[in-house]
Amino acid sequence: MAVKAVSAAGDDAKFIAGGTNILDLMKEGVESPTQLIDISRLNLTQIRSTTTGISIGALAKNTDTANHPLVRQGYPLLTQAILAGASAQIRNMATNGGNLLQRTRCPYFYDVSMPCNKRQPGSGCGAIEGINRNHAIFGWSDKCIAVHPSDMCIALAALDAVVKVQGADGKERSVPFAEFHRLPGDSPEKDNNLQHGELVTAIEIPKSNFAANSYYLKVRDRASYAFALVSVAAALDLNGNTIKQARIAMGGVAHKPWRATEAEKLLVGKAASEENFAAAAEAEMKAAKPFEHNKFKVELGERAIVHALRRAANLKAA
Ligand code: SF4
Repeated sequence: MAVKAVSAAGDDAKFIAGGTNILDLMKEGVESPTQLIDISRLNLTQIRSTTTGISIGALAKNTDTANHPLVRQGYPLLTQAILAGASAQIRNMATNGGNLLQRTRCPYFYDVSMPCNKRQPGSGCGAIEGINRNHAIFGWSDKCIAVHPSDMCIALAALDAVVKVQGADGKERSVPFAEFHRLPGDSPEKDNNLQHGELVTAIEIPKSNFAANSYYLKVRDRASYAFALVSVAAALDLNGNTIKQARIAMGGVAHKPWRATEAEKLLVGKAASEENFAAAAEAEMKAAKPFEHNKFKVELGERAIVHALRRAANLKAA
């Protein structure tokens, strides 16, 4: 019903649930939806075990998700990432679906007097030649260098989550997390690959052996209520001290959660050691392309990967 309502109401109709981002966007004049369809009372709040892992309802609140025993015990990386985001008050209101769909906090996007291809396609990008300290170092285009703002999504990327989506025709589809958000390319106005009117109904996370060895590190300008300069979700599956599988995702560095696949590949089959972590981090950050004000993110990113891996592996600091 809600999905049909948004589809029928045209391109500028939107869903609203917790409202923690859309209302700010409307107040700033960044978005002016013609209709808001309230989905907050839909029955999509369940968090439950499945045969393949866990299913988390799109309308479960961030706080309830972080503190749910199934998440705390089986996916502590997700708990840590959610609790690193926003403030307690916002986490109490914000839903999981909304967390996935929140928009960049690029200051030029929010300042309607400035050019911004994401807000107004074809108007230019204020950040490329402007103050770009908080912007991307991977995967950007000459149209947009904004970064994805969520912490929760960085953990979901590392855990190979799948997003369940329902279309206006009632059909469900499953979107692997790596394909849910997108890089800016020539159309930075699109943050993700949802079709208009599609509704996120749940997030599924597969079973894994990462719970004992995972860590979310967020580096930011102040201790709370700040977005990441760089964050790292690190998860290891260890056999003794040998790495069977490694998952590393980064926040604050790209238009979408950035999987550090180069580093992951280098770690498989190796010992969980400071030396191997450093080599993997260096290899990953080699491809970074920073701007005038965010060159510091390259070394910060390298150090953050090493630190997160060290904590995940329970190694003492070198
Ligand atoms: Fe807009 Fe993207 Fe440029 Fe920021 S980086 S001003 S969001 S186009």
